[in-house]
Amino acid sequence: MVVGEFVEEIDVVVIGAGPGGYVAAIRAAQLGKSVVVVERANVGGVCLNVGCIPSKALIHASHVYENAQHGASMGITMENVKVDYAKVQEWKSGIVKQLTGGVASLFKGNKIRLVSGEAFFLSENEISVYNDNESLKFKFNNAIIATGSRPFELPAFKWSKRVLSSTEVLSLGEIPKRMVVIGGGYIGVELGTVLAKFGTELTILEGADHILPGFEQDMTRLVERRLKKHNVKIHTKALAKGVEESENGVVVKAEVKGEEMSFEADYVLVTVGRKPNTNDIGLEAIGMKMNERGLIEVDKQGRTSLPHIYAIGDIVPGLALAHKASYEGKVAAEAIAGHAAEVDYKCIPSVVFSDPEMSSVGISEREAKEQGLDVVVGRFPYAANGRALSVNAGEGFAKIIADKETGVVLGAQFVGEDASNIVSEVALAIEMGATLEDIELTIHAHPTLGEVTLEAAEMALGRPIHVVVK
Ligand SMILES: Cc1cc2nc3c(=O)[nH]c(=O)nc-3n(C[C@H](O)[C@H](O)[C@H](O)COP(=O)(O)OP(=O)(O)OC[C@H]3O[C@@H](n4cnc5c(N)ncnc54)[C@H](O)[C@@H]3O)c2cc1C
Repeated sequence: MVVGEFVEEIDVVVIGAGPGGYVAAIRAAQLGKSVVVVERANVGGVCLNVGCIPSKALIHASHVYENAQHGASMGITMENVKVDYAKVQEWKSGIVKQLTGGVASLFKGNKIRLVSGEAFFLSENEISVYNDNESLKFKFNNAIIATGSRPFELPAFKWSKRVLSSTEVLSLGEIPKRMVVIGGGYIGVELGTVLAKFGTELTILEGADHILPGFEQDMTRLVERRLKKHNVKIHTKALAKGVEESENGVVVKAEVKGEEMSFEADYVLVTVGRKPNTNDIGLEAIGMKMNERGLIEVDKQGRTSLPHIYAIGDIVPGLALAHKASYEGKVAAEAIAGHAAEVDYKCIPSVVFSDPEMSSVGISEREAKEQGLDVVVGRFPYAANGRALSVNAGEGFAKIIADKETGVVLGAQFVGEDASNIVSEVALAIEMGATLEDIELTIHAHPTLGEVTLEAAEMALGRPIHVVVK
């Protein structure tokens, strides 16, 4: 290793090129700053390489396979539908490559310098970057830390050839015959659904009393029903205790509703949360304030306890989602440029790409009750939406929550086909302070799934067209 002697001076150093870091870097460059991005692995971070994008590609592939097998009710039957899983993986990797290549081009186009290597804070204004060949030093006016997170490893389930995190499952070279998933959160359910659709016998062990605990049970019930159609066994109130591993598989021990049980499988996937990457970059030495979970505390502009250093994405409190990271990245870059930008999380959507999809933005009916708010709720079934029926997706509903007196939209939840896309309309409504009438007066194209939002708003107003109010 050659030790670098020069210290380069720059305006902004961004550590991590995930959806938080790369977006922050682009915005900072747009605002006239000289920017260096340091990335120790691949541009695009978890999201593009081993998270959002590859998982959605595999979800889509599993839908295609499922649809090819189940078109009989529409008069379409296909014989000998086969999966070449190596080809599925190759297709998925191609998408990842295309997108990460796109980010690298955006860096070039915005005159952002990408430096490969591991960043470490030497002082409040200096970092070193180590890679196989060299060590570089940068002196900065501002830093944005966007180092993301990694899968949480349970002490009784050490990572191995058979005990896998989401990262390994996304690149499995085979469709396992049997798989146990520990943790019925969104990552476990999404990846589990992929495998179940491709034919894996799947068992989900979830500690809470239902899977996808962040969502209301009238929504998760539909997902559970669909999983059960794929013969997925769901055990709730299940505490995974340990694993015995052999050359060809695992036996997972768990306590399920007080009873000791064992589950044999080829692999066990552990998706019980993620850990912030904040422990090995020199933050303690420069006096950065972190909470007991290792998350960096920030103000509404993303500023840490060291006011010229910002932190965004999975390493700060709140939802660990790509669009939140990107949003915080823009706010931090704008704050560095002297703008009055601040985060406001009231319209950040959450989506689960389950089958059917679920999404939520703003507050739910339950949260409205807990907060003692006086609200109206409109609920509209997919079964009464022409488009939903014509794409064979009549299961699900839209629910919209608004202030009773003013009609200002406070939140919405969707479960059903394309819930991931539909939710954005309500995010915009909340952002703009729109009312139920604003949604009602917005002409929605027909026939579209988006009409469920219009009809839910009309339900809340007591004048729906396609449902009889009694
Ligand atoms: C299977 C899976 C599916 C997901 N699906 C979705 C989804 O559908 N929608 C959604 O919104 N979110 C999803 N997520 C979550 C999403 O991926 C994360 O919230 C998002 O990637 C966080 O972005 P980030 O920029 O904070 O960090 P990351 O994407 O984790 O990027 C951090 C980057 O920093 C680099 N780094 C770390 N330390 C250093 C260092 N010392 N020096 C240099 N570089 C460093 C890392 O290599 C990494 O590239 C998913 C996650 C997983 C695991």
